[in-house]
Amino acid sequence: MAGERIAERVSVHLRRLSRVHGAVVMAVGLVVLTAWVFDLPSLKGLRPGLPTMKANTALCFILSGAALLIAGLTRPPPALRRASVASAVLVVLISSLTLVQYVLDVNLGLDELLVVDPARHVELGYPGRMAPNTTLCFLLLGVALLCLEVETRVVGWPSQYLAALVGVIALVGLAGYLYGQQEFTGVARYTQMAVHTTVCFLLLALGVFEARSTRGFMRVVSGPGLGGALARWLLPPAFVLPILIGGVVLWAYHSAAFPLPFALALIASGNVMIFTVLVWAAGFALDRAESQRLRIEEERISLQAREQAARDEAAAQQRERTRAENAERDAQRAVREREDILAVVSHDLKNPLSSIGMSTRLLRRLLPEGELGERMRKHTHTIERSVERMDRLIRDLLDMASLQADQVKLNLASHDVEELVREGLLLLEPLAVEACIELRTRLPAERCQVRCDRDRFFQVLSNLVGNALKFTPEQGTVTVEVVPEASAVRFLVHDTGPGIPAEALPHLFERFWRVEGTGKKGTGLGLAISRGLVEAQGGTLDVRSEEGRGSTFCFTLPRVSVPAPPG
Ligand code: ADP
Repeated sequence: MAGERIAERVSVHLRRLSRVHGAVVMAVGLVVLTAWVFDLPSLKGLRPGLPTMKANTALCFILSGAALLIAGLTRPPPALRRASVASAVLVVLISSLTLVQYVLDVNLGLDELLVVDPARHVELGYPGRMAPNTTLCFLLLGVALLCLEVETRVVGWPSQYLAALVGVIALVGLAGYLYGQQEFTGVARYTQMAVHTTVCFLLLALGVFEARSTRGFMRVVSGPGLGGALARWLLPPAFVLPILIGGVVLWAYHSAAFPLPFALALIASGNVMIFTVLVWAAGFALDRAESQRLRIEEERISLQAREQAARDEAAAQQRERTRAENAERDAQRAVREREDILAVVSHDLKNPLSSIGMSTRLLRRLLPEGELGERMRKHTHTIERSVERMDRLIRDLLDMASLQADQVKLNLASHDVEELVREGLLLLEPLAVEACIELRTRLPAERCQVRCDRDRFFQVLSNLVGNALKFTPEQGTVTVEVVPEASAVRFLVHDTGPGIPAEALPHLFERFWRVEGTGKKGTGLGLAISRGLVEAQGGTLDVRSEEGRGSTFCFTLPRVSVPAPPG
């Protein structure tokens, strides 16, 4: 895009320049024609002794300058376009008729059609006739202006070749003046291309190139790339400097009078120097542009790499998020499924189980006396214990599920601590007796109250004391201690059992976790449920234990402050 904008700007600028050239040439033609009409010799030939610009030449410059001016407009109106073609056709006509005069050596009366040449009496050549090279230049230029829009398959744009030829002829003429071929004598003086004529031709030739700057040779010059920039920088010095150096050396040659071969050597080496510098400058510019391009390319590549890395990172994050979301859903589904299963278990297993229990008890009562009856009674006891264990397991599973779903139902109320403990241990005392373990209590002197669910309190206490009785060997002691604190009441269950290995302590409250090799039955759910229940009531449950020195499980419940009795 930037490249296209540059090309567009260059093209607009060059078109404007071509219009300026056309206008200048027209102005010169007008001035010289006026000089002919009013016979002002200084304007015709610039200086006495120099060839003059003829009246027909001035006319042709006015015409071709106008044609170029119109060609340089972006969208000239049709009338102007027709005028431009007519001007170019006239130039071709005048120049070709003049050429016919030269070739056939005839006088068609064309040369003095506008103005009579005051120098005709001097009998020099053909009065009023433009020089042969001028004639040729106008012919070429006229055709070039006519075929500005013509493109051929073989040579491209012919107008540019014709203009180039005009430029070369004019340049030779101008260089001739610069190099001191200023004095002309005889016919030569009369028939030579005038100085201002050479300049006008150069301007017109350049103008043809500038008016159509996006075509042919000019495509490179007006191009947006580095080639275009280099051409625009290098072409002007390549044109001017060699001519300049020739002029300087020739001036030195005349004034210092050194030998001609030395002068030629100077010109040659001067040109070598100029072109070396120009080529070096071009190389340097190319080199710098190339390294800049490489740097930009590298930056682009590293930017792309960074962008790609960022995209990868974002994609990875998205994948991670999706995975987490899926896992979360999966987790929710698992919870729902588990709840469904537990609902089925609670309903479909508990009912048949209680039927089995009830029927077994009924059966036992109906059993006959005697040895057979006794043996069958033993079996009914086994069935009853199994039913109890299964019932316990189902209750534990259900408790665990509702704790995990934060759906445990609590009936919170204030209870007297001493009453709670005594009632809670009532059911456990027979077990202690059976296990030959002494069950002690250590209660505070003052009465205090806690806020809790009564049944859940009994469940936790029987869990902890049950474990203590289970793991403590015969003759041991299990002590339930109550320590009231400012805002909570602490319940401690000490035993003189084997204690718990230090490495097992961190896992003790995990679900289904059990110390290996104790030889005791259990599900590994009791402590997890107890902690959950205590925490749901606003307390904590912890353990302190040392292997071989017994264990102490301690839980707290929020204390209820009892208002002091009146009086
Ligand atoms: P379980 O139903 O197996 O008793 P718990 O969660 O109540 O499940 O206890 C987990 C494990 O903690 C038990 O298997 C046992 O190894 C250990 N444990 C609990 N209480 C005691 C204790 N008082 N003395 C020694 N080990 C205990």
